[in-house]
Amino acid sequence: MANLMNEFPEIDIKQDEPLMNYTYTHTGGPADWLAFPESVDQVKQLVDYVREHEMPLTVLGNASNLIVRDGGIDGLTIILTRLNKITVKDNQVIAQAGASYIDTTIVARDHSLTGLEFAAGIPGSIGGAVFMNAGAYGGETQFVVTDATVLLPDGTIKHFDNQGLDFGYRHSSVQDNHGIVLDATFTLKPGKHDEIKAKMDDLNERRAAKQPLDLPSCGSVFKRPKGYFAGKLIHDAGLQGYTHGGAQVSTKHAGFIVNIDHGTANDYLAVIHHVQETVKAKFGVDLETEVRIIGRD
Ligand SMILES: Cc1cc2nc3c(=O)[nH]c(=O)nc-3n(C[C@H](O)[C@H](O)[C@H](O)COP(=O)(O)OP(=O)(O)OC[C@H]3O[C@@H](n4cnc5c(N)ncnc54)[C@H](O)[C@@H]3O)c2cc1C
Repeated sequence: MANLMNEFPEIDIKQDEPLMNYTYTHTGGPADWLAFPESVDQVKQLVDYVREHEMPLTVLGNASNLIVRDGGIDGLTIILTRLNKITVKDNQVIAQAGASYIDTTIVARDHSLTGLEFAAGIPGSIGGAVFMNAGAYGGETQFVVTDATVLLPDGTIKHFDNQGLDFGYRHSSVQDNHGIVLDATFTLKPGKHDEIKAKMDDLNERRAAKQPLDLPSCGSVFKRPKGYFAGKLIHDAGLQGYTHGGAQVSTKHAGFIVNIDHGTANDYLAVIHHVQETVKAKFGVDLETEVRIIGRD
């Protein structure tokens, strides 16, 4: 097998690197190869390499919306968090894929630009937020993104406007074209710094009051089923506190599964399965995971 550290001496690459060191759940087995590109050119070099060598490729941002199975990930995994520049031009904020959504909201606030307040506490990266159409408190990424630059699997770089991103509930076209988001442009409106800050502070307080932010988790595990709230169904099924190994349905927010004691991805998957079975048996509702589950058993 080729040694990627020798192929790309200028890129920080690790072999058999445990992904539990990077995921928000603190679970997940090793990536065969884990790369931290620092420029678009480096991302492109890696993508060209895996295409030519028919190697599996996985792209991660802040790893706040996924469960990596305990067997780890085949081939090359790329973490984009070193591609994290945020620039402002008039009423537009342009953020690279690895920039944190939270930092991006702070930059918008400090330039008195309104529209991104809803994302003040979403712990993902910009790439992950576009990929997932992340949203909270009535706001969604799709309402503010007007352009995203995407590296497609064939090596071409293409701009997608809002329509081309085909946003839906926790969906964007990047999930279908298997591209890598390189950056996104947010078109905002001039606002008042103090009002923007007050709104962000309020949303963060509401989040801290409701969510178990002191424990590792991956946010809301399940999508909102039509006509229901996943958290309420789980609460009403008496599942809060249900524990398998080190993973537990949060006693603070029923939609979250927290890692209370060295839980593994298998523990998480067992809890997810139990919740799905119980809610189906009690209420006849299928809970679909919002969190992405990837990797080998
Ligand atoms: C405490 C907590 C609270 C949360 N609150 C919210 C919330 O209020 N609203 C909400 O929507 N989400 C929430 N989340 C979930 C998560 O933060 C979002 O889904 C976020 O958008 C994921 O971004 P990420 O960078 O962490 O993506 P990752 O978890 O790294 O990846 C998620 C998916 O996106 C893909 N991906 C990542 N980057 C790229 C890229 N550059 N190009 C192409 N694909 C990419 C990955 O391959 C993967 O399939 C929360 C999570 C936690 C832990």
